[in-house]
Order: sequence, then structure tokens, then C-alpha cells
Amino acid sequence: MALPTEAPKRASYDVVIVGGAMYGSSVAWWLSVNPGFDGSVLVVERDPTYENCSTAHTNSCMRQQFSNEINVRISQFAADFVKNFRGYMGGDERVPELSIQSYGYMYLADNEAFAQTLRESQKVQAACGAATQIMSAAEISRHYPFYNVEDIVAGSINLVDEGYWEGGAVFEGWRRAARENGVEYVSNEVVAMAKSAAGDKVESVTLKSGEVIACGTVVNASGPRAVRTSRMAGIELPVEPRKRYTFIFSAEDPLDQDLPLTIDPSGVHMRTDGMNYLAGCPPDDDPAVDYDDFVQDHSIWEEKVWPILANRVPQFEAIKLTHSWAGHYAFNTFDHNAILGPHTEVTNFVFVNGFSGHGLQQSPAMGRGTAELIAYGEYRSLDLSPFNYERIALGQPFVEKAVI
Ligand SMILES: Cc1cc2nc3c(=O)[nH]c(=O)nc-3n(C[C@H](O)[C@H](O)[C@H](O)COP(=O)(O)OP(=O)(O)OC[C@H]3O[C@@H](n4cnc5c(N)ncnc54)[C@H](O)[C@@H]3O)c2cc1C
Repeated sequence: MALPTEAPKRASYDVVIVGGAMYGSSVAWWLSVNPGFDGSVLVVERDPTYENCSTAHTNSCMRQQFSNEINVRISQFAADFVKNFRGYMGGDERVPELSIQSYGYMYLADNEAFAQTLRESQKVQAACGAATQIMSAAEISRHYPFYNVEDIVAGSINLVDEGYWEGGAVFEGWRRAARENGVEYVSNEVVAMAKSAAGDKVESVTLKSGEVIACGTVVNASGPRAVRTSRMAGIELPVEPRKRYTFIFSAEDPLDQDLPLTIDPSGVHMRTDGMNYLAGCPPDDDPAVDYDDFVQDHSIWEEKVWPILANRVPQFEAIKLTHSWAGHYAFNTFDHNAILGPHTEVTNFVFVNGFSGHGLQQSPAMGRGTAELIAYGEYRSLDLSPFNYERIALGQPFVEKAVI
């Protein structure tokens, strides 16, 4: 069904943001509270129901278990932001007080090489102050007796500021506050862009309804559709929509403690989800999919996920699937890390793209940094330059090993 479109109030904005979900709203809100920025901001969102965006399909967890220091620091800021959400939102009493359900991520290694990777990453995390611990199979059994650890060499877990948080509440808070601070949101779609004669600037965006809107900066916050948006400016981006499946299930004999977000060596993950449990996985064959393909594949539950759950947690032999969905990652095929900052040649085209499965937790730091970049021409809090698009132009990957 075609959604009604809205015309923007003006013909020109300092910043046009393409996409109004988690990232569009994060950048919009951070701009609206940045003391160095007093420009106009338009957010164009093609589907204001947000039904199929990644943000609506997320598993909403955060972790500090990354292999790169900057990714650890980004999640540490996320934890601070979430725990002090109302304060960051100016003490607004309509904003809920949030917390993190810190049951941790349990990475399980079934071979020495991966156990070694976990140990190396733990050192990076510990140097940043993270509480990650490496556990032997015997230690895992002692603390989490429900796991089958027959094939497990080691595990790593962090029980501080790692687990579930309410991403939806942060999204709602940002969107409402950005609007109240003067950001304009319209239901419309950016369908084309016009560049300057020299090709170094996007001068305007064209909307589906026909309006041509002049812009000082364009922010690509289009999630899995990032490459469609960048192509409007003649830019290629190594970001693809990849399908990820989520299953919610109840157990006949529930565990008597929280199930950490467990990364099974098979690639299936599982965790506590309120009174139920959640499991997720990529398909075995993982191609780029159509932007509108959200078809669930029930054979994945029957043939892959359930047997893996029952093997890892024998108490999950008797479980009942209650709910499931398929969502899209904006998957960075180049190095699995975020792509941020301006394009090397089209210098007012700014990326916030390619977050794969860890974008929700990165949204506070990446939104803040992007607002700083637009306001001051540089990052002022965390140096996010390792994520620059430039590395792609130069063919120099910045690999993140801990990707789920
Ligand atoms: C199954 C799943 C589980 C996940 N679990 C986690 C997790 O546990 N922790 C975590 O940190 N992250 C997780 N993520 C990742 C996280 O949800 C995403 O990185 C994040 O939501 C991305 O937000 P976004 O705004 O970039 O993209 P989206 O939410 O996809 O939003 C992009 C928006 O842009 C709009 N748009 C696109 N093109 C145009 C256009 N031309 N004009 C106008 N509007 C346009 C779209 O309609 C959409 O609303 C998960 C993702 C999935 C799919």
C-alpha cells in the first residue's frame, strides 16, 4: 500500500537526513542539542510506520565484547547513555528511566584457535575497563550448569553493562525530542540527488512527491537500503541487505537463572527474553536479499535452530515456538565495521551505514559523533575516524572479528 507523502515546509535545509529510524533520529536529536549547530534539519522517512526497518526487527542487546578498542568504547558510551537516558534527555519526565539487563554475552569456543581469539579480545576489553572473564568449560558448568559443554574449550562473558536494553524507548525519545527541538520529519522518499557541476557536492534531493529540496549536507541513514541512497550521489557502498531470523520460544522446563546471550559455535544465538527465550541465526546460505523480502523460513527453526538449542541446553528439548520474524542487517561485506563520516569526493555526503548486528548499541556514540562532524568538521568526544569511508576507497579494511 502506498503511504501518503508530505511536502517539507521549506525548499532548503542545512541538513537532509535520508531515513528516520534509529540512526536518522539519533543524528537528528544530537544535532538538535549540539551547541555548535543552529541549522535546519529535515528527516525524510519513506515508511513512518517503521514496520520493516532494522530497528523494528532488532534483538536490542549491547556488549563490550569486541576485538577493536573503539568498538568497546562505543558500547561503553551506550551503557552510560542508556543508564542515564533521562538525564541526557534534559530530565524530561516523560522519558523513562532505563536499565540494562546485564546477563552478559557468553561466547563459546569449541576449538583452541577461537579460544585464543577470545583471550586476545578479552585483553583489549579489559584494557578499556570491561569486566570480561575467560572461563574454562568446568567454570562454565559451575556457574551455568544447564549448558552442555562436552565440546567446549573455553567461553568468555561480561556481566557488567552487557545484555538487553530497551532500544525502542530510546528511538521514541530521540524522535519526539528532535521534533520538539525543531527538526522536521516528513513521510516521503528521497528518489534522486543532483550534484554540483564539479561533482563534489550534493546540491539537492528530489522527493517521490516531486519537490526538489536544496541541502547543505546529506546524511545517509537508510539502513539496509544504504547503497540505493548512495548510488543517487554516484557512490558505491559495500552494504547489502542480509536476512536474519529471530525466534521466540517458551520452555516446558524453564531455566532457574537467566540464559546469557549465548553465541553457540554453530552461529546460533539464544538468550532470556522476559519469561521466554529468544534465538536467532543467519541462514546457511547468506546472499543479499530483496529489500522487501521478509519471508520467514520455518524449516530453519525445525531443522537447524531447535536441534542446536536442544544440544547446547538439554532442558530445551521440550520447547514451543511462540513467535518469529525475519529482519535485515545492513551488512558491510568489506570489513564488518560501521561506515561513517563524509565521502572522499562528494564531501557533503555523510555515511552512518553498515552496522550489521551491532548498530542499535552504536547509535548513541555514532549519532553524537556525526553531529559533531557536521557542527565542527571534526569528532570531539570519541575519535570515530577509523570508520571513515576513506578506508574503503583505499582498500584498507578495519576488521571487527566479533560479529554476530
Ligand atoms: C534481527 C536483528 C537483530 C539485531 N540485533 C541487534 C542487537 O541485539 N544489538 C544491536 O546493537 N543491534 C542489533 N541489530 C542491528 C540494529 O537493529 C541496526 O543496526 C539498527 O536498527 C539500524 O538502524 P538504521 O536507522 O541504520 O536502519 P533502519 O532501522 O533500517 O532504518 C532505515 C530507515 O531508512 C528509511 N529509508 C531508506 N531509504 C529511504 C529513502 N530513499 N528515503 C526515505 N527513507 C528511506 C527506511 O524506511 C528505514 O526506516 C539487529 C538487527 C536485526 C535485523
